[in-house]
Amino acid sequence: MALREVLSFPDPLLRRVSEPIEEVTDELRELARDMCDVMYDEPGIGLAAPQVGVAVRMIVVDTEWTEEEAERNPMVVVNPVITHSEGKIVWEEGCLSVPDFTAEVERKAKVVLEGHDLDGKPIREEAEELRAVCFQHEIDHLDGVLFIDHISRLKRMLYTKKRKKQLAAEQES
Ligand SMILES: [Zn+2]
Repeated sequence: MALREVLSFPDPLLRRVSEPIEEVTDELRELARDMCDVMYDEPGIGLAAPQVGVAVRMIVVDTEWTEEEAERNPMVVVNPVITHSEGKIVWEEGCLSVPDFTAEVERKAKVVLEGHDLDGKPIREEAEELRAVCFQHEIDHLDGVLFIDHISRLKRMLYTKKRKKQLAAEQES
């Protein structure tokens, strides 16, 4: 089965604010499965629904999984929100939707994530470091925010230029 395509910057669809999920339909379950497939294939440690072009508030995360051999344990969160956060941490971030670029981003050091799983069971998790950063990064996607929005204007401008050149070159070839 073909994998869903990951949208990349500067696709305007990445800038939409996603809709809350009122009911988990079969379609959404399929979307969650597809998102996990994409995340492991890329590979990445998290993915938000708008990255595959669906503007609904759902994310998948697996920060434990780092190698092909490692056990896969994806967490799907419906309508995720950060209900508490504290401290600051600077983390080198990248994104499947922002090709060939990483940058240091300041985030909250500790967060509490709340939401529901696909069966409607509440999820509440306290996280720090990579997992806290990942939660914040993925939830940002649901509001149309990319990690490059958190870096300096100059760095963002340089990346935007580089990306446009890259896209122009791709179109020529
Ligand atoms: Zn991302």
